[in-house]
Amino acid sequence: MEKRYTVGKTAIRLVKGDITKQDTAAIVNAANSSLMGGGGVDGAIHRAGGPQILDECRRIAASIGSLPPGDAVIATGGNLQARFVIHTVGPIWQGGGKNEARTLEKAYYNSLSLALEKELATISFPSISTGAYRFPLEQAAHIAAATVVRFAKENPLEEVRFVLFSEEDFAAYDTAVASLCTG
Ligand code: ADP
Repeated sequence: MEKRYTVGKTAIRLVKGDITKQDTAAIVNAANSSLMGGGGVDGAIHRAGGPQILDECRRIAASIGSLPPGDAVIATGGNLQARFVIHTVGPIWQGGGKNEARTLEKAYYNSLSLALEKELATISFPSISTGAYRFPLEQAAHIAAATVVRFAKENPLEEVRFVLFSEEDFAAYDTAVASLCTG
């Protein structure tokens, strides 16, 4: 299952699959503030990438303390094909009145900015916050798509890939991206 859209110089690709298997220069982790690993996509990335990922997260946590929701840091990809893992923390859904939408937007934007700063041309995102953090899927997909499209219009990334774990997630992101750009 795969779709491709174009915005400026950037290809926005949607794939159904496992983010740990992606060949982009960076993959984004939906981490938690402790950076000590967890369930869901976070656990999968630590398992697939090996102990180097946790080692570096420990060093980062020792120097910055916890990573606030919306912020992002870039670190090793360990044994992954991706050279880097960008760890970001999405908001925990609390009903919508706690700036969750803005925090989710920041998580995407700050991750994209780190990729650009490191001169990485390609990056993969999972569906941040829509698992254990319970952010409503359609709204999260729209925020993700709008933030990526806005960034792509202004910056020369080659490819931004959304890696969706289920068909339902794929459909939601496809609808959101399609509403913002041409195929
Ligand atoms: P959060 O705590 O930010 O909600 P989760 O990891 O619980 O993060 O869920 C985020 C999304 O990642 C969910 O849609 C989940 O199904 C998906 N997911 C879990 N494992 C993987 C994986 N290996 N590759 C891509 N997506 C994954």
